[in-house]
This record gives sequence, structure tokens and C-alpha cells, in this order.
Amino acid sequence: MDYVNGPGRNHLFVPGPVNIPEQVLRAMNRNNEDYRSPAIPAMTKTLLEDVKQIFKTTSGTPFLIPTTGTGAWESALTNTLSPGDKIISFLIGQFSLLWIDQQKRLNFDVDVVESDWGHGANLEVLASKIAEDKSHIIKAICIVHNETATGVTNNLATVRKILDHYQHPALFLVDGVSSICALDFRMDEWGVDVALTGSQKALSLPTGLGIVCASPKALEATKTAKSVRVFFDWNDYLKFYKMGTYWPYTPSIQLLYGLRAALDLLFEEGLENVLARHARLGKATRLAVEAWGLKNCTQKEEWFSDTVTAIVVPPYIDSAEIVKRAWKRYNLSLGLGLNKVAGKVFRIGHLGNLNELQLLGCLAGVEMVLKDIGYPVKFGSGVAAASALLQNSTPLIPSRI
Ligand code: PLP
Repeated sequence: MDYVNGPGRNHLFVPGPVNIPEQVLRAMNRNNEDYRSPAIPAMTKTLLEDVKQIFKTTSGTPFLIPTTGTGAWESALTNTLSPGDKIISFLIGQFSLLWIDQQKRLNFDVDVVESDWGHGANLEVLASKIAEDKSHIIKAICIVHNETATGVTNNLATVRKILDHYQHPALFLVDGVSSICALDFRMDEWGVDVALTGSQKALSLPTGLGIVCASPKALEATKTAKSVRVFFDWNDYLKFYKMGTYWPYTPSIQLLYGLRAALDLLFEEGLENVLARHARLGKATRLAVEAWGLKNCTQKEEWFSDTVTAIVVPPYIDSAEIVKRAWKRYNLSLGLGLNKVAGKVFRIGHLGNLNELQLLGCLAGVEMVLKDIGYPVKFGSGVAAASALLQNSTPLIPSRI
């Protein structure tokens, strides 16, 4: 037996990269093409138009950048800010930590608002800092919508309310890497200036596309932003948009066809149904965790994430052992605990192209692993709690009604 390929399908339940649907795999299985032929610009035009829907924007300008979430961060920051600019950033877990590290290395003056891991961004502190900043020294608020390391979703509508209340002009930059296409996200309504995601998350594509969307205010900010940028310069894209050829450099043809197929699948299901499915899977996972007698890393219900659940294990268990054993014995891939919560939590990613029975397979696998490593789980307890909810709430598949 091959070491990597176990029998049957791998149950991929890390919170990104996620399963790629068959339709997307097939759409990408094609030869290279001349990206300067009329076909690729024509397809790019539809992609740029359609991708706005996942951000819920009509006024935003999207960029499809050959990069990952980390590059998308850099694109958002360098196009809108200048070195030395004061920004507020929330540290609540590993991904917000990494973004803050990038912000510091790009020489911004970062005011870090830190919370315990498992808590959301402290928006009371934000309100007092914004209230005090009468001369508008603060140039941007940077926030991770969904902290993938701890399973915490921040309240973006409140950030907008605070900025509006004090009529503060700071740019609102949002990492939507593990939220966009899965959680409620409203770029225009919440006045988000730059939103970004990565293709390997809820869009269910391979890694390699950073999808960034800029508001008119963010585009205006590029005119005065002095950060050095070359590969990520939005102006290069805009120049080619104007010419109707769209690409300042060679795009991955396969990823473009994949994105077309991924968007078509999402639209066929209906974006609101996609969000409802994530809400259902998130709730079912949390019910299973409760039935196992384990705790959610997320400390308050208002922050519960519908794309990833970080589960705290008792002190006598190393959560990395759970992840290792799940993969070695059951061909189940779970997320490790990262940094501060390494060894203390394991994560179930429930985002992207995923259905109810797949999740139940994962939950059954987790029960077996828990038993393996000596946790007194009652077999079927989590599966039963999740099934009861899912049996009650799963609608007919939209395209089969
Ligand atoms: N932001 C969040 C919330 C993430 O979960 C991740 C990766 O998991 C990133 C940013 C970084 O993305 P990438 O690994 O694609 O660079």
C-alpha cells in the first residue's frame, strides 16, 4: 500500500486547503493556452464581474493575483498605505499574528490590540482609540474576519459603526481568507475598503490565486500611498483592464477555468444557500463537540465560526497526536493547533465544497481517534447530536428540486 494514498478518499478536514469539487478538477484539466488570444480576456472579464458577488459589492474593483493569502495581505497594505502610517491591528490568533508581523516588516506603525486566543477582536478598545484620534492619525484598521487558528469570527458591522459614529476616515482592510464565500460578508454595506481571500479556502480551488477587492476609496488611496510595490501594484492591473487585455503578466490558465467552474457551482447552489450550509455544518460540529464533553476554544457564542472549530483537549492529551493518528489510521486530515494553542487544540475545518454526510464521516473518525488516544468518548454521541440537527435542517439540494 502506498504511504500517501490510503484506500478510499482522504477526508480532508483541515480549514484550507479544502476539497476541490470534481467539476472544478475537470475544468482545470486542460492544456495551456495563449492568454493573449481573445478567449482569455473574454473569460477574465466575466470572472472579474462575477467575483464581485462573493464580496457583495457593486462598486469594488477586483484583482485576481497569482499569489496566496499572504500575498493578498501585502497587496492590500502596500497599495493603500505609506511606511510610517499608523494602523490598528487586532492580535487574536496565529493568522492575525502573521499579518501583524508583515505589517511591521513593511514599516507601518502598528498599534496592536491583543486579546486572549479564543476571544474576538476587542472593539471597545477600538472605539476608544478612534474617539481619541481627533486629528485622524490612524490611517487604517486591519482585521481578520475569521481567525482560522482559533475558530473566531469578528463582527465587522460593529467596526464600521464605530468608524461612522466618530466620522473617522481610516481605511477598513479585511482578511476574509477563511470567511468569504462561506460566512456573511458585505463589502459595500460594511464599507470595507479592501477585502481579500485565497483560492484554496471556501472557493474550493487549488492554492495560487489571491482575490482582492478594492473600494473606490482604496483606489484613491493608491495615488498617495508610498509603499514600494512592484508585482502587487494595482495600477499595472488597471492599465491592462483599460486596454481590455487584463493581464500584466502570465495568468494560470488552469486556475482561471477552475475559478469559472467554482463560481458557477456557487451560483448554482445560490450564495445564500452556501452560507446556510456553512451555518448548518458549523452548528452540527459544535453540537458534536459538546456531546463529546469537550470545549470549544472560542469563548463566546457571538464569535463561533461556521468555517472552523478549534477543539480543546484535556491536559493529559497532546492534540498533535490526534491529528497524526487520524491521518495514519483513518485517512482523515484534521487541523493542528498552531503556536500558543499547539498541542492544546485540534481543528475541524468545515468550509468549502462539503456536505452533511462528509461531515458526519469526519465526526465518526474523530470519535474513533479520541478512543484510540484514551479519551472516554461514547461512540456515536457526536454523530448522533450532529445528525439530529442535520436531519432536521438539511434542505433539498437546490439544483434537484
Ligand atoms: N489569513 C487567514 C485567515 C488564513 O487562514 C490564512 C491561511 O490559512 C492566511 C491568511 C494565509 O494564507 P496563505 O497561507 O494562503 O498565504
